[in-house]
Amino acid sequence: MNLVEQVREAGVVGAGGGGFPAHVKLAGKADTVIANGAECEPLLHKDAAVMERQAAELLQGVQLTMEAVGARTGIIGIKAKNRHAVDTVQAACQGTAVRVHLLGDYYPAGDEYDLVHEATGRLIPPGGIPLNVGLVVCNVETLVNIAAAAAGRPVVTKTLTIAGAVREPQTITVPLGTSLRACVAAAGGATVADPVLAIGGMMMGETTDELDRPVIKTTGGVIVLPRDHHVIARKLKPAAARQAIGKSACDQCRYCTELCPRYLLGYAVEPHQVMRSLAFTATGAAHWNEWAAMCCACGLCTLFACPEELYPKEACDQSKAEMKRANLKWSGPTTVKPHPLRDGRRTPIASLLKKLNLAQYAHPAPWQATVLAPAQITLPLKQGAGAPCQPLVRAGETVAAGQAVGGIPDQALGARLHAPFAATVAAVTPTHLLLDRR
Ligand code: SF4
Ligand code: SF4
Repeated sequence: MNLVEQVREAGVVGAGGGGFPAHVKLAGKADTVIANGAECEPLLHKDAAVMERQAAELLQGVQLTMEAVGARTGIIGIKAKNRHAVDTVQAACQGTAVRVHLLGDYYPAGDEYDLVHEATGRLIPPGGIPLNVGLVVCNVETLVNIAAAAAGRPVVTKTLTIAGAVREPQTITVPLGTSLRACVAAAGGATVADPVLAIGGMMMGETTDELDRPVIKTTGGVIVLPRDHHVIARKLKPAAARQAIGKSACDQCRYCTELCPRYLLGYAVEPHQVMRSLAFTATGAAHWNEWAAMCCACGLCTLFACPEELYPKEACDQSKAEMKRANLKWSGPTTVKPHPLRDGRRTPIASLLKKLNLAQYAHPAPWQATVLAPAQITLPLKQGAGAPCQPLVRAGETVAAGQAVGGIPDQALGARLHAPFAATVAAVTPTHLLLDRR
């Protein structure tokens, strides 16, 4: 088997949150491979932990990927503030064609477009992907999983940070399908009576109070907060209310646009124009919606820039969804020129922590060798981009550790799914598998 087949077999997807099947990226051709270790979601430290603990595997993943895509250079992007990770990875890279690129502590340093420009000076064409400028970009944990796949080991665990209102913030590695409730308990439990979770981070994550949700291949972390936390309360506001406020209260001050990282990088993203569309008819909206086409959903406009606490990011989400439904493609400028004030307008993580009212939770969350051995796990059949898996097992069957339990439908984009431990299949539903530990 070549690397593409091994990675496909092992079910590797983008572990940074994107969930794109990794074998597809490996089939391209590029001159440089970038490992994304920027990790810019406030309070999350799982990529730093992966780099500190698994620098050799990370380097091996980068080198294997370079070989697969024909690249001569490898770059690992790490924030300079993560000194331990920088030292460990730099030591591992000595004498190789892979180098460390130090990044500042701003948000969103991990946005692929931003990282590509920082690390190589190249600009991805509007609406394009890194491959268009000769690059393959993968999250650092994805690359560790690629190295494991080459050794025949499938993805059956996930490393994630448990932070916020918990007794002992920490980063742990758990079997896929473990409940978030068990992860929060491992971090000493919530310190608030009515916890709400920001899964994947405060800026781009999903907000829920369902603690029994399972850890999947893209879960980078969980921030636990009280329901009455100001930002959580904002996130829980119904969509209709968000739109109604935006329609009546946006004063077109442009702060959302002036601080938008994609706009500052030179792309035609102008959230204030998208907000303007809220006040127009559906016909008018279709015109203005294009200003959202290259928004990366970083959330800065909604959670940091807007002085009126409106929801430009959510308006952009809606616009992009409308454009997709109408099959509208980007038709604006094709040239990209970074804003002359870009460097001075970056959003420091320290300022973001204050604005998000998270400064009190900004504690280290070091990796702990905590072993979680849940008696039952839930494996959703869809854990990343593309089609859900097709079950390869039936209820009542026994499976071995590492055995494939979900396959990719014919001709579809997707990733295989494997049992983290020896188990009996307790149930197979249209959306997930339940496995009981044997
Ligand atoms: S920052 Fe807020 S008020 Fe100003 S234009 Fe953007 S959405 Fe409107
Ligand atoms: S979410 Fe807002 S700030 Fe972020 S890229 Fe989109 S428009 Fe710009």
